[in-house]
Amino acid sequence: MPDEDQATLTGSCLCGAVEFAASGAPRFVAHCHCENCRKAHGAGIVTWVGLPAASVAVTRGENACSRYVSETGATWIFCGSCGSRLFYRPANDQAEIHVAAGALDVDLDANVNVHVYADRATNWCPITDDIPQRGGPSGMERLP
Ligand SMILES: [Zn+2]
Ligand SMILES: [Zn+2]
Repeated sequence: MPDEDQATLTGSCLCGAVEFAASGAPRFVAHCHCENCRKAHGAGIVTWVGLPAASVAVTRGENACSRYVSETGATWIFCGSCGSRLFYRPANDQAEIHVAAGALDVDLDANVNVHVYADRATNWCPITDDIPQRGGPSGMERLP
């Protein structure tokens, strides 16, 4: 087992204006297939690392960060210069933050443990592994 106090994740945006660090063990690592992630990131899936909000800090370029609040009240935080999507703040849980795994500069010492909104996966980015799938309106419900 990794020492949780030693586990530090660091990441940055494409242009390097924004850097961040996170400590502690991820609460989850999820592949998300929802339309909002697809649109926001221009990608078939987005892999999110769920962490306590207090454990994640922008270490460079806080003033370069831009925010977009979706109709659901969720907040997307991204680099205003290069557009890299870095964080997602759920509307209903301000104690949690989701870090885009694609922005990490280090290996993630954790496995992906769930597909969320799995029933919305596109035919051009299908699920081909055995990782558990959740879906439905919340994206987290058990699928039949
Ligand atoms: Zn940038
Ligand atoms: Zn999503």
